[in-house]
Amino acid sequence: MSERRREFLKTLSSLPLIGGLFACGEAAPTAAPMRNYLAELGVKPIINGAGAYTMFTGSLMQREVIDVIAETSKHFVRLDELHDRVGEKIAALVGAEAAMVSSGCFGAMVCGTAACLTGTDPARIVQIPDLTGMKSEVITQKSHRFLYDHAVRDCGVKIVEIETLAEFEAAVSEKTAMLWFLNKRNPDGQIKHEQWVELGRKHGIPTMNDCAADLPPVENLTKYNKMGFDLVAFSGGKGICGPQSAGLLFGRKDLIRAARLNTYPNSDALGRGLKVNKEEMIGMWVALENYMKRDHEADWKEWERRVAVMAEKASAVSGVTTEPFIPPIANETPHLRIRWDQSAIALEPEAVKQKLRDGDPTIEVIPGEGYVTESVEIAAWMLQPGEAEIIGDRIAEILRAG
Ligand SMILES: *Cc1c(COP(=O)(O)O)cnc(C)c1O
Repeated sequence: MSERRREFLKTLSSLPLIGGLFACGEAAPTAAPMRNYLAELGVKPIINGAGAYTMFTGSLMQREVIDVIAETSKHFVRLDELHDRVGEKIAALVGAEAAMVSSGCFGAMVCGTAACLTGTDPARIVQIPDLTGMKSEVITQKSHRFLYDHAVRDCGVKIVEIETLAEFEAAVSEKTAMLWFLNKRNPDGQIKHEQWVELGRKHGIPTMNDCAADLPPVENLTKYNKMGFDLVAFSGGKGICGPQSAGLLFGRKDLIRAARLNTYPNSDALGRGLKVNKEEMIGMWVALENYMKRDHEADWKEWERRVAVMAEKASAVSGVTTEPFIPPIANETPHLRIRWDQSAIALEPEAVKQKLRDGDPTIEVIPGEGYVTESVEIAAWMLQPGEAEIIGDRIAEILRAG
């Protein structure tokens, strides 16, 4: 760190309430002017009105997380020891028996599934994804099938889909290794959280809940573990604003132990490639601690303010209507939907999204399933100061010219 930057940070840290000055996901301030590496690469930074999307690099880490990453990078440590200690801290924060930092929520699900298949048996850990002579099926509800259950399939298991309780009881067998649940689809399935947990207990089969993007509310961090899920997985680089390639897996001690054995630094392991470096491991812990301490109400009010700013600017154009909305469960934060009378403004939503992308600064909004939406939808929580105003003005300009 340069002397100037050190001084700058010292001044910053002596200011009261500094942690509260930057909203979750707001970029850390930089001190000395640096080479503009993105410009050298010809990569344009975007205004992120989409939210915590991997393709737009998730969320932004806070200053303290960046600083701990930089500080940690100066030291060698025994990786397993660090993994143990960070895991203990995280487990205490979320009230779980045990925890580990994973390579995102996807990595958490791979390691968690592997744990249910192998336990701590060294021969099985070497054998998978060849499941000969082992349990080989994971049961989930049909409405919970999702792109990311590929993480479960990575372990070589077959996913068995059920809809009713009777179908569940018929499907469960000595081959069943795990019962997988997609938290955000809870309303869509016939079997809800508590009953899923109960079924796992009844049959002695571990349950896993994928809660990747389900923060806020912060209570979700402790809720599902308390409810009795044996394994709970979260993304680190979405609502928590931790390192984008980190995530959390927590739950039963024996399963976390087994999950650890199925990944680095163990070399002959299915999860060997799902490495998290020491910097991000510590960064994940610090980001989680900070997230849990945040003034979540103040964050919410700021997101609502941004939505109101964008709505006011867009709806000033005649024929344009706006509607604030909150997605249920995943990415549950204030959003804005913008529609217009297409007989007066002859622009498809996709054309508006392209114009936003082509402008300077370049703007991304919610891409939508299959990259198509019927309106323009914007998430407010990843915007930086002043960007809600820019988006509002730009959309008004595009629609006015439309
Ligand atoms: C984002 C997401 C994942 C993947 O999480 P990463 O942290 O990017 O690995 C898994 N499941 C769901 C439901 C998600 O939204």
